[in-house]
Amino acid sequence: MLRQTDPQASKINPWDNGYLTPLVQKQSYGFDRQEARKYFNYPKVRGGILQLSEDLFRVDIKPWKTALWHPKAEAYEMFEGGKLIGRFYLDMHPRPGKYEHANVVPLRQGKGGQVPVIALVMNAPDGLMEHGDVVTFLHEYGHLLHGIFGGQNQHWAGQSGIATEADFGEAPSQMLEEWVFDYDTLKRFATNEAGQPIPQELVAQMNRARLFNLGMGDMRQLGLSEVALRLYQQGAPADLGAAYRGYVNRYDLIPLPEWSQGQNSFSHLAGYGASYYTYRWSKVIADDLFTRFAREGLRNPKTAADYRRLVLAPGGTKPAAELVRDFLGRPISIDAYKAEMARAAR
Ligand SMILES: [Zn+2]
Repeated sequence: MLRQTDPQASKINPWDNGYLTPLVQKQSYGFDRQEARKYFNYPKVRGGILQLSEDLFRVDIKPWKTALWHPKAEAYEMFEGGKLIGRFYLDMHPRPGKYEHANVVPLRQGKGGQVPVIALVMNAPDGLMEHGDVVTFLHEYGHLLHGIFGGQNQHWAGQSGIATEADFGEAPSQMLEEWVFDYDTLKRFATNEAGQPIPQELVAQMNRARLFNLGMGDMRQLGLSEVALRLYQQGAPADLGAAYRGYVNRYDLIPLPEWSQGQNSFSHLAGYGASYYTYRWSKVIADDLFTRFAREGLRNPKTAADYRRLVLAPGGTKPAAELVRDFLGRPISIDAYKAEMARAAR
């Protein structure tokens, strides 16, 4: 692909990847990100994601009339059978001085009769979004749901909401991402300006393109995991940049150049400490949890109710291995993750 524009090119540099990937996805998989973007207008995406949680978990979400810190921020209340069970803010669009990534900020833990309050902060366009932004939105919203469902009548604040073992924390959100690759879910809210739903073929292309470079992305995650483990195990080496490049390049198929100082922008190194590996390990668990939905139906209310009751509602009151066993009826397995990798390699 690079040689189509640069016939002399002999290697791909790390910064080429973000440019080349959509081109390959378009040429080899028929998936055009810009075409998909026409179906993801923010207000409809927000409506679709809130509706998805109402459908799956039998809750009602209504606007919450309360003071807000910015005209673009939004506030909602979640009810179940008429009872208030959670409140949340959405602060979705960029502005100067705002936090630049995406995350969920618990503002008040659910404890005793106290209702959880959570903010979801993102930097998505206030109009047409790329599908990747939709995935991020649903991912963060998954943390928000975990915070609310796991924060009902907990005795201790420390066990309320997203209080599971750290290497399980990403699993519920990573699993939920599957729903915005599901045509049956997307057709309900992903419509273009004329109101036509996203074509089934476009969703099929999106799913094929999703597998592109999956293995390479995984190797990158393994390299970053090794950086985190090694630096916390051995302390800071004299040449931090060289150590970082050494660990990452052991795995990455596109090596970092000699001058790279990647550790300076690896913010998870402080936030996650040694346990950056949790992103891969949570994905193993997410793929495993999803097997039951894949078998019983993504919109099966009984499966969703079991999932909420057995995995999300306990918050941090049980070891993660027990949560998974309660839901799947067996211990955690790496098989689903391996199957997805095998599918990508085909
Ligand atoms: Zn997350």
